[in-house]
Formats: sequence, C-alpha cells, structure tokens
Amino acid sequence: MRYLTEFHDPELARRLLDDIAATATRRWTLMEVCGGQTHSIIRHGLDQLLAEQVEFIHGPGCPVCVTPLEMIDRALAIAARPEVILCSFGDMLRVPGSASDLFTVRAHGGDVRVVYSPLDAVGLAEANPDRQVVFFAVGFETTAPAAAMAAVTARRRRLANFSMLVSHVLVPPAMRAVLGAPDNRVAAFLAAGHVCTVMGTAQYEPLVAAHQVPIVVTGFEPLDLLDGVRQAIGQLETGRAELVNAYPRAVRAEGNPAALAMLREVFTVCDRAWRGIGVIPSSGWRLAPDWADLDAQTRFDVAGLTVAESAHCHSGAVLQGRLRPPDCPAFGTRCTPRHPLGATMVSAEGACAAYYQYRRLTPAL
Ligand code: SF4
Repeated sequence: MRYLTEFHDPELARRLLDDIAATATRRWTLMEVCGGQTHSIIRHGLDQLLAEQVEFIHGPGCPVCVTPLEMIDRALAIAARPEVILCSFGDMLRVPGSASDLFTVRAHGGDVRVVYSPLDAVGLAEANPDRQVVFFAVGFETTAPAAAMAAVTARRRRLANFSMLVSHVLVPPAMRAVLGAPDNRVAAFLAAGHVCTVMGTAQYEPLVAAHQVPIVVTGFEPLDLLDGVRQAIGQLETGRAELVNAYPRAVRAEGNPAALAMLREVFTVCDRAWRGIGVIPSSGWRLAPDWADLDAQTRFDVAGLTVAESAHCHSGAVLQGRLRPPDCPAFGTRCTPRHPLGATMVSAEGACAAYYQYRRLTPAL
C-alpha cells in the first residue's frame, strides 16, 4: 500500500495543518486546477480543515466537463451512423449534448463502446475492417499522448477505417484566461501534477513572471495537497511568486520527452472552445496537417455543426470558480448524477459531482 497510506498519515497531516495555521495571517484564495484534486479536497474535508486559511476555487481541470457541446453533438451525429463504431472513455457516454447523449444513441441502436485506452479503439478497427471506428479523443495533456500513439499505430498498421474526433485541451492557456478575467480572485495555483509528468514545468514560468502568481505543482493525495497549500501560502505571506515542483516523485522539469515528441508529431495547437467558458486562444490540440486523413470531423462532415449552451446549467461559472455547486438552483434537485443537466455533474472529476457525492449540499448563506 505504499503511496497510499504514507500520503494519508494523520500525524503528518496535523503537522502540515498546524504549519499552515501558524503561517497564514489572512484567508487566501487558491485554485486547484485539476478536478481530481477537487475530489480529493472535498473527499478528505481539506476545505473544512483549512476553512480559516484558504478559500478553494475549483478550477476548470475536468476534461469531460470542458468538452464543448458542439463536440458532443458531433460525436452523437457520428455515432448514429450505421457503419460507425464510436469509442470513448466511460464518462463521455453520459455527458449531455444539446438533445441527447451517447448512451441514448446506443439505446437506439448506435454502436457506442467504452474503451480504456485509445489503442483499444485501434484494435477494434483492426478486428472490424468493414466498419468505421472513431475514437472520441478528449482530455488534457495527460491523455493526449495515448491518443497520439493510437494515430501512429493506426497508420503503421495501414488502418484506413480508423479516425479520431479530437477535442484535447491544454491547461496553461486556461490558467492564463482565469488570471486575465476582470473578476479574478486567484492568489495562487495548485497546478496539476500529472499534466506536468508529461509536459514538464517550464510552461508555467511565463505565467508566474507575467502575473506574479505563485504556482505550486502538486499531487493528489491529502498530504500532497496540504504541502502544496503550505508552500503556496508561504510564498504569499512573504510576497514571493515562484514556480515550485512539490510533486518531485512524479514530475521532472523536462517532462516526458518521448510523449512530448509524439505529441509534437501528431497534434498542432489551435484555439479551442471550452464548455460553458467559450473560446480560449491556443488552448487545444487538433490533428496536424500531416494527420488530417484521420480527422473524423472531415471524414463524416460534421465540422460545421454548432449549438448553443443550455441556459439551465451554470457549469461555466462553476468551472471558473464563480459559483459553488450547491449554489446552483438545480443542484441536487433537477440535476443529480443520475439525471445530470451538465457535464460537471457527470464526470468523476466534476466539481458538482464531488459536492453531491460527498454530501456538501448546503448553499452559501
Ligand atoms: S448542479 Fe447541474 S445544472 Fe447546476 S452547474 Fe452543476 S451540472 Fe450544471
């Protein structure tokens, strides 16, 4: 159980909490970028333990939540075609599009399958040469290397029946957008450690320099998060703004060179719409021109499909830290994990789902 029990040690947690309490002279507003960190904070009650020292703003780092509605609708249109097997990760099947979701398409006869790796979709293409296999590629820098590997593998195997609907997003431009918002309240970031295992840490240096904001690269266990908070508050209290790697057991400054090389080969940076937020410049990846033959949007002619967001879901405000989930009028009543109105209630990393799952049901007074 190494890497579990040792990062849940209550004695060490107590010491970190005491240290934070002794350092903080006021309540600081921190944003944990990743939805996995949000779930850990809520699950372990870190927000309650640190209520006097920290206000946590939950960031936009849930890949399922930020996949734009038009991309979901494009996936729905492709999945409804009789010649297609559409594959994606499990959470994506329940995310509501403008009128339906992938589970419903499957119930009506569409061939929609859950895969655990993009390479499983490549295997399906190989096993079904008379069908078109489409992988719906969503996620941050963490999942994109596996999607790039799937593209490379499909080409190596000369699979003409494999394509990808790509909706990958990048973390630093979203953090830049948060910092640039007129109502920004974030004093420091806990950056997502797993993103940095792939990308390294240098990508955050321009943000620290331009905005004088501390960024602490942090893991996901309770002690990781408490140490991240301790280091962020230590900087804020002494007027420093530095980039710190507090997750050295997983993150190296240079990232993962093999994964980076594959990403550079297969993808190119593009502007990307984030669900509930809007277009963020240079915040996504799409297939590079040399890989355009694998683009499912062109193969199935769905690129022009655009739709408006539902007025009933406020997930954009949740994803930007402007609304706590229990303060949404639909939270826990019209919107639950069984009947979600928005992606932040669906995803295992969504903030609304975290508050519902761990029974944080009370609105702010
Ligand atoms: S509770 Fe439901 S409707 Fe409200 S913001 Fe969250 S997902 Fe959207």
